[in-house]
Amino acid sequence: MYNREDYVSNSEWERFLEFSKNLETPNIVINLHTVKKNYIKLRDSFPYARIFYAMKANPGKPVLELLAEMGSNFDIASRYELDKILELKISPDRLSFGNTIKKAKDIAYFYEKGVRMFATDSKEDLKNIATNAPGSRVYVRILVENSVTADWPLSRKFGCHPDMAYDLIVLAKKLGLTPYGISFHVGSQQRDIGQWNDAIAKTKYLFTSLEEEEDIRLSMINMGGGFPASYIEPTNDLHDYASEITRYIRDDFGEDRPEIILEPGRSLVADSGILTSEVVLVSRKNNTALSRWVYQDAGKFNGLIETLDESIKYPIISSKDKPNVRESEVIIAGPTCDSMDIMYEDNKYKLPTNLKIGDKLYWLTTGAYTSTYASVGFNGFPPLKTYFME
Ligand SMILES: *Cc1c(COP(=O)(O)O)cnc(C)c1O
Repeated sequence: MYNREDYVSNSEWERFLEFSKNLETPNIVINLHTVKKNYIKLRDSFPYARIFYAMKANPGKPVLELLAEMGSNFDIASRYELDKILELKISPDRLSFGNTIKKAKDIAYFYEKGVRMFATDSKEDLKNIATNAPGSRVYVRILVENSVTADWPLSRKFGCHPDMAYDLIVLAKKLGLTPYGISFHVGSQQRDIGQWNDAIAKTKYLFTSLEEEEDIRLSMINMGGGFPASYIEPTNDLHDYASEITRYIRDDFGEDRPEIILEPGRSLVADSGILTSEVVLVSRKNNTALSRWVYQDAGKFNGLIETLDESIKYPIISSKDKPNVRESEVIIAGPTCDSMDIMYEDNKYKLPTNLKIGDKLYWLTTGAYTSTYASVGFNGFPPLKTYFME
């Protein structure tokens, strides 16, 4: 059992229980107060940075509207996300096309809608940008190693070696684009703050060598996401991230600090969500088995995909929790007919021994990468319903 108060205050918990008491399960409730609080904390921790919310983390309309109103910009990865953002009347100069994998016709679509800021990490993509979004600002994403200390790595697939980034910036200028800066992502839920140090040092090397050897002056560093949410594995507080990262930037760039962009996803929205599921069955595989299997109506295909490899460990509490309740080990699984639909088996979760069919499980910190990160109807189960609490 996890101490709920470490994650959600008593007053917010009461508000949540009242709000959700008649909702059918499974569902997710997003607390917009928490999103707002997280945004303010990030903004105040990095007062010199511009924030581009990575909307894939939670593209709920009330979340987007709230962040837009707070002054956030947006990191967009597809034309579908773009359409959704433009519907909210957000100006295209607050948008960046941050996906390095994109079709030429989608680049043209972004350009036509007024977006002038593009990420890249390859020659072919850069040429497509030059042809379909002439004159735009481009930034090059570099590879960083992060697979060990990030709970959900975003390396390998994106970014290029700094030497190649150098060549791409030179080529961007030749093609009539505006070389803008360098980006990286140290991996999502990055628990080692030192990862930003290595990445910023690589960026500094590129800034200096491009200026000295090519007379190209870059002006922006996009430090990506990776800031923490409150799961089971402890992390440092965001203030520690901010003070360390600010020091790394000062050590490398001194007074000549470039424009800094952050692209938070998880850290803004994860803590705002509570997923409620209902226990469908509690059983054992033989009469003497020590672990019970707890099957409930949320699983890998409707919201809990980040439990792949048991990577993200959500704090789970149950409607039977109370002080000194007896608990024992469980394996927690979802409702579909796919045996991959098991959330936790190696991680030994414990739930009350009197847990029964119809009881509820509350999955805390489920506001990021859940509601839309789901199948549309595997085994006929619909995607999770999301509700927004003011
Ligand atoms: C997903 C993504 C982010 C958000 O990362 P978090 O770790 O969730 O904050 C930021 N930038 C890019 C390019 C992304 O793809």
